[in-house]
Amino acid sequence: MSIFSAIIAREIPADIVFESERIIAFRDIAPRAPMHLLVVPKTEDYANVVELSAGDPELLAEMVAVAQDLASEHADGEFRLVFNTGANAGQSVFHVHAHVLAGGLTEGSLGGE
Ligand code: 5GP
Repeated sequence: MSIFSAIIAREIPADIVFESERIIAFRDIAPRAPMHLLVVPKTEDYANVVELSAGDPELLAEMVAVAQDLASEHADGEFRLVFNTGANAGQSVFHVHAHVLAGGLTEGSLGGE
């Protein structure tokens, strides 16, 4: 089970800001922007955005819509959407997720470690 599946199952705590049938969103534990949320599909069938876009493009579109809604609710509606894809690109959790960053963004807020 991925760490995000444990959050979905309420086995570990998280500051959850949105939940629907197929998606959950919560605050990143190590925020790199004033608003740093993770938008995560509940399925762990897709390790990264490339697999998700090939396997379930509607779910990817739903994630983008949730990102917009959350940026409007928690910031000024403008946001950076980051999908780290592969360990060399900074991906550490291989359960697809979007970083949604907003508010006072700097060049260092790209989501990688
Ligand atoms: P990645 O590096 O895979 O693109 O992003 C994984 C993100 O998950 C990191 O930004 C990291 O801070 C966050 N993260 C890892 N473990 C936890 C956790 O237990 N809770 C929360 N809320 N975020 C986590």
